[in-house]
Amino acid sequence: MPGFQHEPPSDPVCSARACGTHAVWALRWNNPRLHTLERRKTWLACADHLTSLSEHLEVRGFLREVESADDLEHRVRTA
Ligand SMILES: [Zn+2]
Repeated sequence: MPGFQHEPPSDPVCSARACGTHAVWALRWNNPRLHTLERRKTWLACADHLTSLSEHLEVRGFLREVESADDLEHRVRTA
C-alpha cells in the first residue's frame, strides 16, 4: 500500500512505493467502511504509476475521481 500524505507537498511526489517521481495525477478515493461519503483521500501518481494505483483503488471500489495534480496544487495554493 502506498503511504498516504495528509497534506500534498508543494512539489507533489508519486505515492507508489519507492517512487520519488514528480506526480502529475491526483487520485481521489474513499473507503466507505472507514470514511463518510463526502470524505476524500488523495494519492498522487506519476504517469508510470497512474494505472497501477488507480486499478488498486478501483478493484476495491474506492476510486472516486482522478484529477490533474496541477489542479490540486492550484487549489492548495489558493485555499
Ligand atoms: Zn510513480
